[in-house]
Amino acid sequence: MAKKFTLPRGTADILPADIPAWHDLESKARHYFSKYNYKEIRTPNFEEVELFARSMGQTSDVVQKQILGLSSQKEGNDSGLGLRPEGTASVVRAYIQNGMERVGGLAKLFYIGPMFRGERPQKGRLRQFHQMGVEAIGPDSASPYLDAEVIALAVNILKSLGLNGFKLKINTLGSQEDKANFSQKLREDLKPHVARLSEESQARFERNVFRILDSKSKEDKAIVSQLNLNYSYLSDESLQYYAKVKANLTALGVEFEESIELVRGLDYYTHTVFEISDPSLGAQDALGAGGRYGTLVSQLGGGKNVDAIGFALGMERILLAAKDMASVDAQLDVFVVTMDETANDFAFKVVDELRAGGLGADMSFKGGSSKSQMRVANKSGARYMAIIGEQEMKNKTVTLKHMASGEQQEISVTETIEKIKNT
Ligand code: AMP
Repeated sequence: MAKKFTLPRGTADILPADIPAWHDLESKARHYFSKYNYKEIRTPNFEEVELFARSMGQTSDVVQKQILGLSSQKEGNDSGLGLRPEGTASVVRAYIQNGMERVGGLAKLFYIGPMFRGERPQKGRLRQFHQMGVEAIGPDSASPYLDAEVIALAVNILKSLGLNGFKLKINTLGSQEDKANFSQKLREDLKPHVARLSEESQARFERNVFRILDSKSKEDKAIVSQLNLNYSYLSDESLQYYAKVKANLTALGVEFEESIELVRGLDYYTHTVFEISDPSLGAQDALGAGGRYGTLVSQLGGGKNVDAIGFALGMERILLAAKDMASVDAQLDVFVVTMDETANDFAFKVVDELRAGGLGADMSFKGGSSKSQMRVANKSGARYMAIIGEQEMKNKTVTLKHMASGEQQEISVTETIEKIKNT
């Protein structure tokens, strides 16, 4: 027997029944992106692996373990290709490559699309998943107003989907300099406890000490809670910036919690960082996250430092959290049924005319008895059925039946279009 194929682990088919919820999510998000003046950008699903390594940092978990490489595709002296694990690196690469800086001002960009990570699959954690996100990139564009606007945009998209149980946490990492001071201080403070840290955190002690702060391990949490973390490592300027971001969020009515332990896993963040989670999701509860990154453009070959901030929201997670708010599938307007085969040619033309008239129309291509076609019509959920037999062919009409009331009348195709459009 021929082999039966199943989809790769950690991926999912999005079936027709799930599509209305995806469309709803995408169209609400697009509406908000446009209201906030973000323009869509579509970049390839794969890039040079080194782009991800350089942007996310060699030491990040994603780069160390999760890039799905396309090992057979190596060209010239490139570093090999890999599927994108997130959107920021590609968007920044496109910003530089297309000289968007020359246009001046702020490039406000958004994207919606699949991302890929070689993770161990579990509920809420896939190897191919979807993110929608924004990046606002422009020289000297760092502003506590923009930070608050970007955070409010993420929050407003989630609210527009009916979500209200999520929590927004914010923090600041300060400037590059502040960050370096903080990591030095952290290492000093953690040194006496290293032996008691989890294995993962011990490995992170050297390569990415910040990540110990948001470790999920109980022992690590206990050690971190005794560190009495505070913002003493921040410059006055960074502290003022952060205070203004918080004041702006309050002015916009955005509720937030401050968390000094929120550090995000990637090297590129500076100043404002944030994370949105929904406790109803269980272990994988992050809906999205983002932050400011001031050095990525220069790190990726864009010359000088260009200010930028962005976020990414996980679409599967949003849909999981919003699943009780199911949206209705677009209903088919009319299903055409023939009394016998001689009506097929006429019916085929009628379906075309109905569609040209702006209606959603369909017919059963399998034919069969009128009774079996009517069963298909019922199942399709169409609002109307248009029945065509000998008489209708002669009169160039259809017998239009309203499925819910059972009312029917013989009318022309033009009248049918008119009637259905007005009900
Ligand atoms: P990150 O870039 O890891 O901060 O991811 C941003 C958001 O994307 C997360 O908050 C999740 O909602 C979603 N996400 C990240 N990784 C996965 C995954 N493997 N499967 C499903 N969603 C994910």
